[in-house]
Amino acid sequence: MKRLCPACFTELSAEANYCSICGKCVRGTVEQTKQFLGGPEETIVVGIADSAILIGGKKATIIEEGE
Ligand SMILES: [Zn+2]
Repeated sequence: MKRLCPACFTELSAEANYCSICGKCVRGTVEQTKQFLGGPEETIVVGIADSAILIGGKKATIIEEGE
């Protein structure tokens, strides 16, 4: 699967968190803050958001050619 920068469409490596050309951040953590009554605020990381453009992979459409 290819990953492309959403800003300048440079091809990125699978592990890239930033575009090497324009410096755009393409992957960041999604945080959720919860607070119990009277308790301290707690921020936990609930996931990773990947804003890179993904090309290919398992969801690609397979076109079957019939006769
Ligand atoms: Zn870029």
